[in-house]
Amino acid sequence: MKLETNKKAEIWFLTGTQHLYGPETLEQVADQSRAVATSLNSSGTIPLNIVWKPILKTAEEIKAICMEASANENCVGVIVWMHTFSPAKMWIAGLTALQKPLLHLHTQANAQLPWDTIDMDFMNLNQAAHGDREHGHIQARMNTGRKIVVGHYADALVVKRISNWVRATIGWNTSQNLKLARFGDNMRSVAVTDGDKTSAQMRFGFSVEAYGINALAAAIEKVNAKDIDALVAQYEIDYDVVPSLKKGGAQHDSLRYAASIEIAMRGFLEAGGFSAFTSNFEDLGALRQLPGLAVQRLMADGYGFGGEGDWKTSAMLRIIKSMSVGLEGGTSFMEDYTYHFGPGEPKVLGAHMLEVCPSIASAKPKCEIHPLGIGDREDPVRLVFDATPGAGRVISMSDLGDRFRIVVNEIEVVKPDAPLPNLPVARAVWKPAPSLSTSAECWIYAGGSHHTVMTTAVDAEVLQDFAEIAQVELLSINAKTDATEFRKEIRWNSLHYKLSK
Ligand code: MN
Repeated sequence: MKLETNKKAEIWFLTGTQHLYGPETLEQVADQSRAVATSLNSSGTIPLNIVWKPILKTAEEIKAICMEASANENCVGVIVWMHTFSPAKMWIAGLTALQKPLLHLHTQANAQLPWDTIDMDFMNLNQAAHGDREHGHIQARMNTGRKIVVGHYADALVVKRISNWVRATIGWNTSQNLKLARFGDNMRSVAVTDGDKTSAQMRFGFSVEAYGINALAAAIEKVNAKDIDALVAQYEIDYDVVPSLKKGGAQHDSLRYAASIEIAMRGFLEAGGFSAFTSNFEDLGALRQLPGLAVQRLMADGYGFGGEGDWKTSAMLRIIKSMSVGLEGGTSFMEDYTYHFGPGEPKVLGAHMLEVCPSIASAKPKCEIHPLGIGDREDPVRLVFDATPGAGRVISMSDLGDRFRIVVNEIEVVKPDAPLPNLPVARAVWKPAPSLSTSAECWIYAGGSHHTVMTTAVDAEVLQDFAEIAQVELLSINAKTDATEFRKEIRWNSLHYKLSK
């Protein structure tokens, strides 16, 4: 993935204490909290640097560092730990000022109690067991959005949970800085792809800007032949290009036109600072082909995309792509297309007209050209492949009018039961948890979109943490989901979100 949001992004590590203990103990507090930050950095799991900050002994110091964190654009999240006791009223002004995601790490310098040597000095130094409870009280009372992680800081599960939260802060930072370009508007009469872009900007930070498709068509006309030559040569390296599209082939000109779409689109997005976009097959203006290959390749580089003007899915795709930095697996735009109810285990076949990201491809994609029944244009070029089997999830974001709702369904991507020789698009076949029937029943009750982001890279916990940071509802459909309880959760949540406004 070529696109990154902020290469200087970092997490600040804050340790709360007070003057009560005297300078000698405070020196130990500083040394040991620095060791916690160092250990987290050396784990090799956490995708950002954890920056240790001097220990905090007064309300003034706490407020100052929280204001500094809020103003610093490289600080994308704050971890707090009360190694000793830090009276929580000292934190009210600081937490009120803090505008960054917060993780409360409830840990200890030592994993084991030194049973035979423990004395009151040890007890006074290692008192997070009650220091962090005092801290947790004020966060609970202030209703501060946060993640709490409990356990020794060197424990692999603790590190993993911190790492997941750090990925969520990367996504949040991406969202805050995300500019999305829409080529054309929403597909006519479609409900779920539409929504309130102003509310979305207030909630998630990302902005959505509209362009006429002919702005892109004009840019395509200006692409020079040498750049097309070079890109077409790259296609032949990256993919198995069918003979008719190759140089000398009957449809080579279509491949060249597809390349010019990619060059123009990439240039347009780069010039405007956009990292996500949408298209709409109903509004292609002077475009000769529906963009397929170009969209697929831009997604592979980290761009967000949504078909039919779907800016919410496009933004989520970009956000989730940014969270996946350095991870195995892929992330793509997806649509629940059609079902296999049986025989055998029920499955979903997901695809789109053209636009599935090759980051999920199980083998070198084929570059093909086929007619497209809708869109009323020349045959579009596209990449065709099967998705890599493995655990993943599909994610939808919908606008319920009074708020946004994220729905996540745990899935297992599987090999298709048989080859699909006549299907001219990239596709993924999966088994949704807990079963196709319960999954689809819950998804439809929740009003989840037919468009999703599919990821085999980012854990469900990262998405939970992101929703907590954004303070939006997240409904999870997973192995434990029971449809009756799920419907109750929807009802209870609707009350919660109305009352908490
Ligand atoms: Mn669609």
